[in-house]
Parts: sequence; C-alpha cells; structure tokens
Amino acid sequence: MVLRMSRLLLKTLRDAPADAETTSHKLLVRAGYVRRTSAGVWSWLPLGKRVLDNVARVVREEMDAIGGQEMQLPMLLPREAYEATGRAAEYGDLLFQLKDRKGTDYVLGPTHEEVFTQLVKDQCTSYKDLPLILYQIQTKYRDEARPRSGVLRGREFQMKDAYSFDLTDEGLDEAYRLHRAAYVRIFERLGLDYRIVSAISGAMGGSASEEFLAPAAAGEDTFADCPACDYAANTEAVTFTAAPADAAGHGPVEELDTPDTPTIEALAALLRVPASATLKNLLVRIDGEITAVGVPGDREVDLGKLAEHLAPATVELVTAEYFAGRPDLVRGYVGPQGLGIRYLADPRIAAGTAWITGANKSGRHAANVVCGRDFDVDQYLDVVTVEAGDPCPRCGTGLTLDRAIEIGHIFQLGRLYTDAFQVDVLDRDGKPVRPTMGCYGIGVSRAVAALAEQTADERGLCWPREIAPAEVHVVAAGKAAQSELAEEAATRLEAAGVRVLLDDRAGVSPGVKFTDAELLGVPTILIAGRRAAESVVELKDRRTGTREELPLAEALERLAR
Ligand code: ATP
Ligand code: MG
Repeated sequence: MVLRMSRLLLKTLRDAPADAETTSHKLLVRAGYVRRTSAGVWSWLPLGKRVLDNVARVVREEMDAIGGQEMQLPMLLPREAYEATGRAAEYGDLLFQLKDRKGTDYVLGPTHEEVFTQLVKDQCTSYKDLPLILYQIQTKYRDEARPRSGVLRGREFQMKDAYSFDLTDEGLDEAYRLHRAAYVRIFERLGLDYRIVSAISGAMGGSASEEFLAPAAAGEDTFADCPACDYAANTEAVTFTAAPADAAGHGPVEELDTPDTPTIEALAALLRVPASATLKNLLVRIDGEITAVGVPGDREVDLGKLAEHLAPATVELVTAEYFAGRPDLVRGYVGPQGLGIRYLADPRIAAGTAWITGANKSGRHAANVVCGRDFDVDQYLDVVTVEAGDPCPRCGTGLTLDRAIEIGHIFQLGRLYTDAFQVDVLDRDGKPVRPTMGCYGIGVSRAVAALAEQTADERGLCWPREIAPAEVHVVAAGKAAQSELAEEAATRLEAAGVRVLLDDRAGVSPGVKFTDAELLGVPTILIAGRRAAESVVELKDRRTGTREELPLAEALERLAR
C-alpha cells in the first residue's frame, strides 16, 4: 500500500519542543515520528513506528541467523525473582514497582535475566537441551532519574535482549563471539558509525563485557580512544599500571606547618608545588568499614568506578558527623603514614614514589612520604577519573576522550544467575552441571535516535534506505497532470516492491511539500513537477542534494530493487 500523506496521521512542526536539547529529540518530534506522552514515555506515530520496526527487523534477522530463538516474556513480573538475585535492591529507584489487588509485589521488567534463567530451569533437564540462544524484542521499563534527550533515554523503551545458556566456558565464549559478530552486522546494516569498546559489567557482574557505542555529541557516555592503536574503552574501564620507582634518594619525612590548607589547591599554592606532587586521601566507608583511598592531588576519584570494583559491598562517603566522632582522622589533613586504617590507592601511588600529604594533625602536612617505606598500600585499585592525554594501556600514547551513545552491550555473565536459581542439567554421566550464561542487549528505540543524531543535517532527518519509513518520497507539485504522474510513479514503484510515501495533499504549496520532504528524511525524493506533461520527473538525493531530470520509466528502473 502506498502511504498517502493526505491520510497520514502526521503534523510536521516548524518549531522544536522548548525542552528539546538534542538533534534527534528536536527532529523526531518536528517530523512527527514520536510524540511525548509523559516524561520519558513516547508514542510512536506511523512514520516513527515504521523506522522502529525496520530497526527491529534487522536485529531479528541477524539474531535468527546465529540461531537465536525469539520469544516474548511478560513485562509484568513478580518482584520475588528480582529479590532472589539482589537486583531489586541494586536497581533501587530505577525499578518500576506495583502491587496487584491481593497485595503481591510486581515490577515492570528492566531486563530479564531472572525470568529467562527460571524458564531454562523449568524447561531444561539434560545436556542435550543446551546450548541455547533465546531473545526477545520488547518494551522495557526503567524509572530513569532524568529522562532527557527524547527516545535516547526513555523510561519506557524498546530493547532486544538475548541470553545464552551453555554447559562450558568454551561454549559461552562461542556464544559471545557469535553475538559480537551479529552485532557488527546489525550496526553495519543500520548504517551506524560505531565503536566496540571494553566495558565493565555494571550491575550485572561477570567477566568479559564490551559496549557498542555510536559516537555523537548528544551521547551520555564518554569513551577513551587511542589515536595510535586500536584500543578503545569506556572511561570506566580504562586501566592504568605504574612502574615502581626507586625509593633511594628520598630524604626523611619532614613535617611542614601548613595552616588553613584543607584543600589541595590551598596546599599547592602555599608550598608552590604542582597538585600532582601531593597525595589526596578520600575517606569512605566500605560496608561500614572506614577506609582511605589515595590518589594524586591533581586527580579525581571516580566513585562509580570505586563502587564497581568493590561491589557488592556498599561505598559511602564519610560525613562530617562521622569525623566528629573520630579524633584520629583529621579532616583535610589525612595522610596514610601511621594511619591504622585500611588503605586503597591508585596505581600511580607506586612503591618508591614520594608525596606531600596530610600529617594527621590539623594545619600540618608531611613531605617526602614514601610509599613502601613510610606507608603501605593494602590494595591497588583503578579509581581515578580518566583524563584526555592519559596513557593508552596498550601502547602508551595519549588517549583522546569522545562522547557516544551506548547502543549495545554484550556480557559474559558466567554462573551468577544459574547459581542464584540453582539451575542444573544432567551431563552424559547423569551428573549435574551448572550452565553458564551470557546476556546481550541492543537499545532498539535508542538506535533510532542514534541514527537520527548521526545522519541528520540542518534541513532534517536523513535515513539510510533500509531503515527509512519509505524508500522513495513522491511529491506531486500540485497541478492535475503532476498529480496524475505522481500517482502513476507511486503505483508502479510499489508494484516493483519499493516502499513509497506519496505527498498527495491537496491545497498544500510545493514549497511546503519540499520542506516537509527534507524534514522527513526519506533518502530519495521523486518530484512530478515542471515537465510532468512529458512524463519527465526529477530525482533528488536527500543526502547530497543532487537533482536530475529524467523520464519516469528510467527513474523507475533506477529505483527498483
Ligand atoms: P545506560 O548506561 O545508557 O543507562 P545501561 O548500560 O543501563 O544503559 P543495559 O542494561 O546495558 O543499559 O541495556 C542494554 C541496552 O539498552 C543499552 O545498551 C541501551 O542501548 C539500551 N537502553 C538502556 N537504557 C535505556 C533507556 N533508558 N532508554 C533507551 N534505551 C536504553
Ligand atoms: Mg550497558
């Protein structure tokens, strides 16, 4: 069926919504693809739904090609399952929760590891039942704190989530490799510019994990990219290794009178030393236990990274009230020497390095405090925020930092969930074996926005052919002969298997039609205009803007699949 603009539920807008900040948010609303229903909750209008379905179709085809079996699990799920794995607490306020009439607790699924694992426990008994790749393309719910950027970050959104179940670690490696290759094909077909970066595994635990990122200014993720080698990683996953220094040659510890210097800036200014020569010690409580975290004075502690390293332990910053009850801990003047509490440090605080740090006395600091001589590090942890210019862990070149949108994520989960639900199948000898899992997500609705971000120009959206709501946008300039030719073009294109959007609106000026065509972003625009009487049409490439006049028959031949 030719999609007719005369009947389409579509109101293009001249102005973007006042609160829209990103290109995709502005354009998807202006072009009538999506409409906000409530904060972070979007309705997909006919053109948007077509694009969304096209993305889902590509994802489905490539998942099927690696042997994935599509399913559909409920979105309304008993909270109990998410309590069994501790994820109800981990997700916290992100989880949408509700009760049924009997008072039983439910959640709206944020992702489905628990339910798939329970289903496999229920259905699989023998090694013969595995391996499995199960997936769904479905609505997910997360009560995001600041749902911004339109469909890039919704509270209700479409995700493809897949789960692999294998008997052996080699099996899991293979499933992971298959998904990675499928993702490469999916993002190539979608026409997205993307990078694969190593990631840490977030709230899920597990070992190998990579993210697929679409570089875009509107992205909320930062990734580190090496200009010299192929290293790329989420900044949270960048590691740093320091070589031990030679401790010889450092003088003895020297206590300095440094009044009113509780901050690194004040200290560095007073002593006229760079902040990098000082050692900053942050006090936290890890599962309640007071712990100091040492980093160079010019660096920031990434609390997310710290929490990630220490999970499932909880990490809290030490409050002023807590300090009040601990006279041994002098706020602003803490140093690791003789401190008597657990000491974690960034690898830059290597053995043999000397620092200016707190003297554990108000208004006093100590210089020449040498790691391994004057204090010991209980555990090294990569916890500082990565900065541009930090060395590439692979080749040492200075890293660059770029913004990107996370469009996909693959994890090797291991036996985290099969342990939680005690899933076993019997092997050849009748002995129980615990399956190992992977999970693999793609933000289907987010991919639509990511594509819009990467392909739009100042005139509007600009879709790749496979994803576009139609392949050809036929515009009837207005006069009767033009309308007739446009109708003929649309009908014949459809007959040739080409998806067509026909602007057959009466009483709308050609100028408005052309502007709308640019905004909607169908890749090829066919205009029945000036020379319609001779059966000559104009073909316009939406992306390059190139125009060409040619007989309809020739145009049809060129556009046929
Ligand atoms: P983010 O860090 O952006 O919050 P996440 O790491 O929590 O995402 P996953 O649990 O890995 O997300 O979910 C798989 C995929 O689902 C993500 O890679 C992303 O593409 C998509 N996604 C996650 N949250 C949202 C959201 N609120 N709106 C749209 N898509 C989302
Ligand atoms: Mg993720």
